[in-house]
Amino acid sequence: MASEKNNVTLEKIVSLCKRRGFVFPTADMYGGLNGVYDFGPLGYAMKQNIKKMWTKQLSLVDHDIVMIDGAILGHHAMWSASGHVDSFSDPMVDCLICKKRYRADEINLEKACVHCGNHSWTEARQFKLMFETQIGAMSDAASTGYLRPETAQSIFVNFKNVLGSSRVKIPFGIGQIGKAFRNEITPKQFLFRMREFEQMELEFFCKPEESDSFFDFWKSERYLFYKQLGLDMERIRFRDHAENELAHYSKKCTDVEYEFPFGWKELEGIAHRGSFDLQQHIDHAKKDLSVFEEATRQSYVPHVVETSVGVDRLFLTLLFDAYREDTVDGESRTLLRLHPAIAPVQAAVLPLVKKLDTEAHKIIKHLKKHGYAVQYDASGSIGKRYRRQDEIGTPVCFTVDFETAEDGKVTARNRDTLEQVRIPIDELDHYLQVLMAA
Ligand code: ATP
Repeated sequence: MASEKNNVTLEKIVSLCKRRGFVFPTADMYGGLNGVYDFGPLGYAMKQNIKKMWTKQLSLVDHDIVMIDGAILGHHAMWSASGHVDSFSDPMVDCLICKKRYRADEINLEKACVHCGNHSWTEARQFKLMFETQIGAMSDAASTGYLRPETAQSIFVNFKNVLGSSRVKIPFGIGQIGKAFRNEITPKQFLFRMREFEQMELEFFCKPEESDSFFDFWKSERYLFYKQLGLDMERIRFRDHAENELAHYSKKCTDVEYEFPFGWKELEGIAHRGSFDLQQHIDHAKKDLSVFEEATRQSYVPHVVETSVGVDRLFLTLLFDAYREDTVDGESRTLLRLHPAIAPVQAAVLPLVKKLDTEAHKIIKHLKKHGYAVQYDASGSIGKRYRRQDEIGTPVCFTVDFETAEDGKVTARNRDTLEQVRIPIDELDHYLQVLMAA
């Protein structure tokens, strides 16, 4: 099936996000901070739903997966051992005329500066991406710490802690959702490249001889995840890294890419990291991170398959994918065709007139008790209220009308099909359950 054209642009998404309370530039009233954003009520709710779906999918695989919540402030020695202190950097060039700064690997240095039209560049030099800070009152090399640029390292340094304290055995995974910070040279495209963002990472530990098949296993799991999110799979592709793209320690790597309006870009990285990370910590911390296998009476350092996706980048992807504009009854509307389990509001309850308020609130209370995010809206015509909900992706509106008191039913109006059906109030919970599981 060909992908539906949806006329979406970055500007439309940014504007909708601000207008409806998904995302605001941070410290807006002071002019914002480049690459840093605050999530408003709807953005917060949608982010929570994304994280819930990610965690749920992990919990359903046939292997043990446990979660941790590591510290954001990181030890100098840990980031040194991982290789980040020395080499977590991007190449940077400046235009000598207008002083605009670029990532050297993102532009063509044979061409002129797109900002001023001149062709005069500085030499490319490495720009360190980690945010450095001093921990404690002393300001010397020993007190230098870092805001983590990825969540993965706290998983590796806790590998033995988790193995020794939980009832898990190889093969098993440790997952983590948390903030990461990178002093990106050119934050851009809204939530696509930020300086403060959130990651959902899984490090899956296995026997070396099983690592190739687990790499394939995780690739297919991740494919299913995006399918379950309801993304247009024509706009998703899995791109295997060529030999010369791979990090020296990495055996295989696949980027999950999405076709954004600004091109095919990485959404998630799936990497076969071998024993590199654990071995680095074994060498630097002089601690044994190998595991002993009873059957063969031998020790080995497990291999790792990593899957890593940015919450914010996925959030942006879902908005791009869900955005539609159409005309209903001669009026134009904008809608987000989000999966019901991702939509920030799952149902709106709309009393036809103010007089029906009490009944509407009873329904809201009932649905909230069952764990649904519900919104009440009594202002303006019903058509206007539907459009307000369509724009934030609410999959269904329940209208309370004069017959509700008599037949105990409300009218359910579907965001995508516009179909309207009468449903008994005591079946609303089931109705929503079916919708969310679709
Ligand atoms: P890129 O090539 O886009 O800089 P990367 O290969 O450095 O990304 P990873 O280190 O593999 O990214 O990070 C894993 C995931 O974290 C990415 O696929 C992306 O979803 C997310 N991510 C990385 N950097 C950012 C950022 N600056 N802003 C938002 N999300 C990010």
